[in-house]
Amino acid sequence: MDKSKLYDSVIVGGGPAGMAAALSLYEEGIENIIILERDCELGGILNQCIHNGFGLHTFDEELSGPEYAIRYINMTAKIEHRLNTMVMNIQPVTENGKVLKEVTSYSSEHGLQILRTKSVILAMGCREKARGALNIPGTRPAGIYSAGTAQKFVNIDGFMPGREVVILGSGDIGLIMARRMTLEGAKVKLVAEIMPYSGGLKRNIVQCLDDFGIPLLLSHTVTKINGKDRVESVIISEVDEDLKPIPGTEEEVKCDTLLLSVGLIPENELSRNMGLTMSRSTRGPVVFENLETSCPGVFACGNVLHVHDLVDNVSKEAKQAGKNASEYIRSFDSSDAKDRYDPDPDSEIMKRFAKKNATRNGVNPNNVTKNPDGSTTHILPCITCPNGCILTVTEKEGSVISVSGNACDRGDTYARSEVLAPSRIVTSSVRVRGALRPVVSVRTASAIPKDRISEVIDLMKNTVADAPVNAGDVIIPNIADTGVDLIATYTIH
Ligand SMILES: Cc1cc2nc3c(=O)[nH]c(=O)nc-3n(C[C@H](O)[C@H](O)[C@H](O)COP(=O)(O)OP(=O)(O)OC[C@H]3O[C@@H](n4cnc5c(N)ncnc54)[C@H](O)[C@@H]3O)c2cc1C
Repeated sequence: MDKSKLYDSVIVGGGPAGMAAALSLYEEGIENIIILERDCELGGILNQCIHNGFGLHTFDEELSGPEYAIRYINMTAKIEHRLNTMVMNIQPVTENGKVLKEVTSYSSEHGLQILRTKSVILAMGCREKARGALNIPGTRPAGIYSAGTAQKFVNIDGFMPGREVVILGSGDIGLIMARRMTLEGAKVKLVAEIMPYSGGLKRNIVQCLDDFGIPLLLSHTVTKINGKDRVESVIISEVDEDLKPIPGTEEEVKCDTLLLSVGLIPENELSRNMGLTMSRSTRGPVVFENLETSCPGVFACGNVLHVHDLVDNVSKEAKQAGKNASEYIRSFDSSDAKDRYDPDPDSEIMKRFAKKNATRNGVNPNNVTKNPDGSTTHILPCITCPNGCILTVTEKEGSVISVSGNACDRGDTYARSEVLAPSRIVTSSVRVRGALRPVVSVRTASAIPKDRISEVIDLMKNTVADAPVNAGDVIIPNIADTGVDLIATYTIH
């Protein structure tokens, strides 16, 4: 351990939270900082989220996950960071009456290291709940994956985990994987959701299920998995108000793959091991209003604190954590740690953190009424942003007469286009020759007609790009004569 070096801050995790917190510290003039990231690149979970829908608030643009990540990677280029570096322990130590922290990490390049620091920002993200947490009866065949693992296989490693798929859980990850597997040629038989409503955003129900005719079975769950070496089928049952399977409602669905998208929990080993006060509601550390945990000088932000739906909210919260940490660092030399109390994990503020939009309802995509005057009224959810405004659109003879329910102009534009000529941005991946990774993420530069999606996907499947590919490179100009280019959203060498 190099006792002479004392960092102002060590940031654990180089996802959007870690990068935004580090950037905020840097902008506050605190430059003696380091990001430690266990993966081989910065960006966190965003690197495998190749769909669009990120950054509407932060950049006022709809970006894919890798495009959002690269913006922060560029903005944090001056900040010291170590990749392939796993933080294994954080230990508060008292030195001359001040609480310092020793951060133990391991990497093949630097070996075992202990970094001394005045403050720590925890930004380790979250992890998926596994099948074990659900106790589904049956055997243990191959073909059962968490949705995030399947997402990594398809989007980063270029493998297809299966061909006939049932998805359990209709949160955003489950919905996004339903579309992703379909675009890659799998048959997604259904998405089963134990609750009477979907936990996903309305825009994802529309774009990921309705666009491809994938059924969403609310109040249903998987009650048995069949198959010895490989999944052969699952039994789906309806559940009652107490979420208990109703006898007699069992139905066998043939499939070779079951994707579990049954929730995320903060990556909380480090927080727990260092003795932080933990919240029973969020499963992350309890924090004060300044995002400082029960250990002075240790801050938490992003999914490690509580699971966020939107990366924009992660970046905003992390920016605040960085600013608050900068104030702590400035006061570090002038004052001793203040007396602290442990906030009640069930206090109102923690409940607010824990609140997950539990009241989001499912979406009825085909709410169309013929009016006596010959016009037609459509009721549809807006998919331009996560608010999911419910729009009422009346059209007659190919022109829109009125739009209501929209909170912004984008909603009006969407309503007109959706009723007269629906279009979508398509995100997927294409194979790459001569690079370390087998696939690169791509998207159409703008929306294409919805009825051309399968044609465009077929062209992508038959395309092999030559490395190097840079984000923004045109992979297929004017794809399928749509007038729109297919562009890379990731740089790969
Ligand atoms: C499938 C999916 C779809 C999503 N879709 C959208 C969307 O459409 N729009 C949107 O706005 N948001 C979306 N989100 C949400 C958003 O991407 C996340 O909320 C956000 O990425 C969380 O950022 P984070 O930095 O907290 O965590 P992460 O991105 O998970 O980053 C945490 C980082 O910490 C590292 N780490 C963990 N432990 C250690 C350790 N011990 N040592 C060193 N490093 C460590 C990890 O390797 C990782 O890089 C989606 C999320 C998922 C999972």
